[in-house]
Amino acid sequence: MTYDLVVIGSGPGGYSAAFRAADLGLNVALIEKYSTLGGVCLNVGCIPSKALLHAAKVISDARDMASHGIIFDEPEIEIVILRRWKDSVIGQLTKGLSGLAKQRGVTVLTGEANFQSPNEIAVSGQSDTISFKQAIIAVGSRPTEIPGIPFDDPRVLTSTGALALDDLPGRLLVIGGGIIGLEMATVYMEMDVEVTVVELMDNLMFGVDRDLVKPLEKRMAKQLSAIYIKTSVVKIEAHDKHLTAHFEGEGAPATADFDKVLVAVGRQPNGLGVGADKAGVAVDERGFIAVDKHQRTNVPHIFAIGDVVGQPMLAHKAVHEGKVAAEVAAGHKSGFDALVIPSVAYTDPEVAWVGLTETEAKASGQKYGKGLFPWAASGRALSLGRTEGLTKLLFSEDDGRVVGGGVVGPNAGDLIAEIALAIETNCDAEDIGLTIHPHPTLSETVAMAAEAYAGTITDLYIPKTKKSAKKS
Ligand code: FAD
Repeated sequence: MTYDLVVIGSGPGGYSAAFRAADLGLNVALIEKYSTLGGVCLNVGCIPSKALLHAAKVISDARDMASHGIIFDEPEIEIVILRRWKDSVIGQLTKGLSGLAKQRGVTVLTGEANFQSPNEIAVSGQSDTISFKQAIIAVGSRPTEIPGIPFDDPRVLTSTGALALDDLPGRLLVIGGGIIGLEMATVYMEMDVEVTVVELMDNLMFGVDRDLVKPLEKRMAKQLSAIYIKTSVVKIEAHDKHLTAHFEGEGAPATADFDKVLVAVGRQPNGLGVGADKAGVAVDERGFIAVDKHQRTNVPHIFAIGDVVGQPMLAHKAVHEGKVAAEVAAGHKSGFDALVIPSVAYTDPEVAWVGLTETEAKASGQKYGKGLFPWAASGRALSLGRTEGLTKLLFSEDDGRVVGGGVVGPNAGDLIAEIALAIETNCDAEDIGLTIHPHPTLSETVAMAAEAYAGTITDLYIPKTKKSAKKS
């Protein structure tokens, strides 16, 4: 059997590529080593984590209401039912994908794929080698392991194990204060697990603007057992009844005992596990595959997409790349030319940012203007009892266009899409501020940040400087 296109890996990148290529008339095979489609994102990433974060948010909202006069009993967590619900969410999506593949006539092959030559691939469990005219490598990534940690001990988890939710440990150590570590810490701390977070760098969510991270840090600090920054875990010792972590760093004890340890220190690309060398595809020593803007590797009829081609390792980036690769494979003139890719931490509050950050602008000496709207002045945020939020827009000093933005607060992940669109469509402050946003919504905070920059805001009093007087 010769396929026009084989896609290896059925994560968001792979399935999007396969479906788009089939819609464009190609005869497509989608190869996945696991029994369900959807990759990391649907099975052990984006979706289960968001289901559990929703459960955590309900608990936290219920607790917050106590100070407003509505007092609920403390939640009883039926972990089997919670796990079953989370799995059912995954099941609906992965089943849906199988249905979509069938409707489009995409052949799904289950097994591990390995290139045999530039036009042939072997799939474990299949007797015949598969021939193809073009291929897309969408093999994703896996959790990074670090030395000194006994990963064979079932009490040492990666994000996959933490999302499996086998039980609720008494004490959990989360190694890594990035997005995945903090999302999982949020889930477990709301379920009354004593959670400690340890981070090697100076701050949680290192690299993200401090004003966006601070409200999150402040809220989490109240609920976490401890946050140790500038600290490394040099060793985990396994004992019968607990795990002992050995720390080196500022403010941390030399050792502390935990029931489980979650290692969330990043992800590693899977490029070295697909026999790419037999097809002549160059893979670097870490497992990344380099591509051009058409997603072509160094072998022109073989493309690569998603986590395996580099940062940011995000599902929405993988989907866009997948569609580009499929369109190019079908003979269309397509390229990955997105100006920006938004990032979101679905913590409580959420933190989202897109385009230029102040941290980057300052580091590169780039001049920028800023519009800030603190949520304490938002009627909607007040009515939600969540005034710690902030919406920020950055503007080019040259032409006044939006070049970046960030939001911290509930639903920041939804609000950031407007800022991404503003950047992609070259909006200035007036385009956003003069667009009528519905009242009372959190979306108004984006318009208000634009007005703050334009000098036309009435919901805040910002004393005029010579520069802002000229603008307004
Ligand atoms: P993957 O989803 O990694 O899929 C690759 C697939 O290839 C896998 O199914 C794998 O089994 C298969 N495969 C690998 N090798 C072979 C082989 N040789 N043969 C056959 N099949 C193979 N991103 C977001 O945008 N938003 C989020 O909220 C978010 N939350 C996350 C939460 C967690 C806990 C984690 C771990 C990740 C999260 N991510 C999130 C990241 C997101 O999951 C990834 O960026 C995304 O899944 C990458 O998609 P992909 O198509 O590149 O590969």
